[in-house]
Amino acid sequence: MASANSASKKRSIGAPSQQQGSVSCALGKEVSLDAVPLYLEETEWHGEEKGTRLRCKHGLCLARRVAWEGEDTGRRFLGCPLEEDEDQCKFVQWVDPEWDSRVKKTLAGMWDMVDRGVKREAIIQADMFKAFALKDRLEKEKNDELAHKNALLDMREAQLKELLYKSASEANELCSPSS
Ligand SMILES: [Zn+2]
Repeated sequence: MASANSASKKRSIGAPSQQQGSVSCALGKEVSLDAVPLYLEETEWHGEEKGTRLRCKHGLCLARRVAWEGEDTGRRFLGCPLEEDEDQCKFVQWVDPEWDSRVKKTLAGMWDMVDRGVKREAIIQADMFKAFALKDRLEKEKNDELAHKNALLDMREAQLKELLYKSASEANELCSPSS
């Protein structure tokens, strides 16, 4: 079952409800849409619809769904029992008539608010990712610089030791009685 949250996340932001006017609310008349509306399963309206001989394009018994998208939000429909990732067909039979214009307007306004919230959240998240990436980069640069400095110091220390060793050897040679 799709939760309200995941359904709202699946919605394409700002997508208009494209099916208006092309559907019939009369049960018994087959209606095909370009896309199945996003939907929820409700406790009052779920499972197989046994009261109709209608079948989806797979010939399967229809599933009860409740639209969760745009101006159709809350409208019951019958659809393919398969899920989107299971090769769901686009058979849709509306059970409820279209909402009146006032309800549609309210629903459109609500989804608009949701979409704006989702977009804002996406922007905040993107900014956070950028900030974390910048922090990681700066830390890496700092560590690289430190490693480079340490390597340089080690090299100079080795050079100094070699020089001292050489001087000491030369001094020894000078002090020792020559043959
Ligand atoms: Zn189907």
